[in-house]
Amino acid sequence: MEYTVEQLLNLPENEVYKKIVEILYPDYPQAFEAANKILCVAPHPDDCELGVGGLIAKYSSMGREVYIIVVTDGSKGTTNTSIMPEELATIRRKEVEEACKLLGVKEIFWLGYKDGELEYSKDLFNNIISLIRLIKPDIVLAPDPTLKYEFHPDHIVTGRVTGSAVLFSGMPYFNYIDLEKKIEPHSVKYLGLYYTSNPNYYIDITGYFDKKLEALKLHKSQFQEIWDLFSKLVYLEARVHGKKINKQFAEAIRLLPTLLLHVYSFSEHI
Ligand code: ZN
Repeated sequence: MEYTVEQLLNLPENEVYKKIVEILYPDYPQAFEAANKILCVAPHPDDCELGVGGLIAKYSSMGREVYIIVVTDGSKGTTNTSIMPEELATIRRKEVEEACKLLGVKEIFWLGYKDGELEYSKDLFNNIISLIRLIKPDIVLAPDPTLKYEFHPDHIVTGRVTGSAVLFSGMPYFNYIDLEKKIEPHSVKYLGLYYTSNPNYYIDITGYFDKKLEALKLHKSQFQEIWDLFSKLVYLEARVHGKKINKQFAEAIRLLPTLLLHVYSFSEHI
């Protein structure tokens, strides 16, 4: 260790925790470059594209394997009663397939829970644990469940359950049935939270922003009617994040080492 505890204590408080992460996780600043596999968990069939579509396009084009889990069927995401929920679920499934093909996603997994009705359950927890163990990602992405003004229960539940699944996927006695099926435990290195108001990590998506926008445009059932306003918002957000790192476009996430997803209050300060 290049720093002694005394030297660390002499640093300003807001730098101590960042320095600890730097020492314990030397690859943290290049976490996505160092990763082989990235898994993004979406509450609905469009959230990974909106939250981290640029990141997905960037790292899949750099040879990383990107996987997506879509937790709910998205069957209630409309104001149009001329489309039945089952029909909408089918349409949205096709939209995700097209968008993910464009972004270079390797495989999509569908959990099929009912839109708007997601609850923190053992069933959901076990399903996500099993997929983490099968895919073996280095980094898992999910919505930040602590986003202050987030009122969509599916987003809050997806973030919480995914964080718990990341915490325990390396421990064989959680969802032990996997081991009986010869599905080995797998430890994830980092959890990345998108849709966050507390980002600590910016991804330069300059050169990939157009692809993100194109992928979102394929979600016609969601954005066609509001495209002018919506696309401006997406553009503005990427430019605002880009300014933080002196790039044209960026996405912002909160990246936390799995080891710090439990007990340590200083996770708030890294
Ligand atoms: Zn959503």
